[in-house]
Amino acid sequence: MVTITCVRGDITQQHVDAIVNAANSSLLGGGGVDGAIHRAGGPEILDACRDLRASHYGKGLPTGRAVATTAGRLPARWVIHTVGPRWSNSEDRSALLASSYRESLRVADELGAMTVAFPAISTGIYGWPMNDGAHIAVATVREAKTTVREVRFVLFDEPAYAAFTAHLGL
Ligand code: ADP
Repeated sequence: MVTITCVRGDITQQHVDAIVNAANSSLLGGGGVDGAIHRAGGPEILDACRDLRASHYGKGLPTGRAVATTAGRLPARWVIHTVGPRWSNSEDRSALLASSYRESLRVADELGAMTVAFPAISTGIYGWPMNDGAHIAVATVREAKTTVREVRFVLFDEPAYAAFTAHLGL
């Protein structure tokens, strides 16, 4: 069974097999976690993303899907890029957010990753309310069938950490 842990910190500094990137569908860089990962990991990650755009993902990575690359200079071995949905007031996109977590774990399983760190996908530039984002993250990982041993949620600030610990019952 997967053990779920929660820390406050920077996902680029995590010593885990794979870290998950809250990417955008272009895979060619953005702000937030994505910017931090490319800055800390170096150009090898962007090169791998460009290769993906030139091969399997010509139109970009669809929302709710995930794909792995090298982690470049990061302590992790792989970066799993996933595209969360933008928050919408008029449409319920929860299933896509759950899919981002589930698909990331499926890719982690394919890689044989035992430890995986996730950020709070969609809760930054994409505007998802933190409490609801934390609820979907925790519920989806709890229900996932995965060979990953540890899922570590890495939260950047205190409100995010508080939301995740509350949903985890910590
Ligand atoms: P999205 O576009 O999916 O909303 P963002 O990268 O803008 O993605 O934000 C997702 C979450 O990651 C936000 O809660 C943000 O505060 C957090 N975050 C930003 N930088 C880091 C980092 N270096 N490590 C962990 N979490 C981060």
